[in-house]
Amino acid sequence: MEAVTDSGQRLIFDAGTGARPLGIHLMSNAPKPITAVILVSHTHWDHIQGFPFFIPLFVPGNRFTVCGPKGSNASLPNVLAGQMEYTYFPVELAQLGAAITYRDLGEGTEEIEGVRVWTQSLNHPAPALGYRIEADGASLLYLCDHEPYWESLWDSKAESGKLESILHDGDRRHATFMRNADVVVHDAQYTPEEYPGKKNWGHSTWTYVTSMAAAAGVKNLFLTHHDPAHDDEFLDEIETRARELAASLGSPMRVSCAREGFQTRFRGDPNHIALQEVAAVAGGSRSDLLVLIVDDDEDLRFLARKALARSGYRVIESENGRDGLDQIRSKSPDLLILDLNMPGMDGFEVLRALGSGGAGPLPVLVLTSQGDENSARQSFELGATDFLAKPFTSPQLDARVRSCFSRGGARQAT
Ligand SMILES: [Zn+2]
Ligand SMILES: [Zn+2]
Repeated sequence: MEAVTDSGQRLIFDAGTGARPLGIHLMSNAPKPITAVILVSHTHWDHIQGFPFFIPLFVPGNRFTVCGPKGSNASLPNVLAGQMEYTYFPVELAQLGAAITYRDLGEGTEEIEGVRVWTQSLNHPAPALGYRIEADGASLLYLCDHEPYWESLWDSKAESGKLESILHDGDRRHATFMRNADVVVHDAQYTPEEYPGKKNWGHSTWTYVTSMAAAAGVKNLFLTHHDPAHDDEFLDEIETRARELAASLGSPMRVSCAREGFQTRFRGDPNHIALQEVAAVAGGSRSDLLVLIVDDDEDLRFLARKALARSGYRVIESENGRDGLDQIRSKSPDLLILDLNMPGMDGFEVLRALGSGGAGPLPVLVLTSQGDENSARQSFELGATDFLAKPFTSPQLDARVRSCFSRGGARQAT
């Protein structure tokens, strides 16, 4: 997807298969030399496979700044070079004619080639960033790929449809990132009927996206990252239903399914921009961050410790709730990973003890058994930050830990 500001600054979001037709279009229509900022959400293949086929990269004199989330296993140029090794592609990354610079981005706000860019982590099995751009009085967000943090959206004690009534802190933060935006382009791969079989794959339903965007006061919503199994007719149906949902929520928001070749022009109101400054990210490396795992399952502790240590965290362990509480007091960890089902003092009791003991803003990632969402809900009410269903993979654990650190005022690694 491409956006161009009034001053001619060109922003390209991801480089999937659309990068090829976009490159051909720019070669015959854009002023030369071609310059652009390419904002990569994450390096899953569907988001970068068009990069080697983007013809302006081959032309000397063209200039590109390629940005992506930091914290992946390999650096951005290494990942892009990987898919251009001679087994896969005839030209290597280093042989491209254009001048390319790379920037790793964390959460926060940055000036990139004269454009203000806000970034925020998405809920995806790999480190992924959402982008918010403000230019010429208009705001645009690109949010791919992202999954709801929690399936039921609204706090049962509050009025549905409002930003502040969103139950899960992560979803509330996600919606707040979109607040009052002129344009939001959002992953909406699944229908709510399909979603239960695709949980933890890192994608949203059109109902989640429409509800979040309506609560956030978004003006124009584009659903994208369509499932390859959905044909045009099916997408028309989703579009109709999403519009009905927005209307039923009392929102004047315009909803469309994104489609190839679509172009439009947005005029923002220079006075409306009401984005909360994204909190400045505290410095420090991940090796400053101490994670405590409390679980009676030795194998799980072993695997979690290995995964977290690989990502650079310091890790300590407890095999029961009582010892865990002692370690919280004596070692002051930055994050607690807590099993609920343990003999003796279980996870709920630990949460209760933490709540009454005034332990401060210690983020808690609760481990539940697959499908046991009542326990997750109950632990939220006791102050847990997030939950992760067992069994989980290392990247899922890493993504959840990262997202716990990025919320609730917790310290965060850069
Ligand atoms: Zn992905
Ligand atoms: Zn994707």
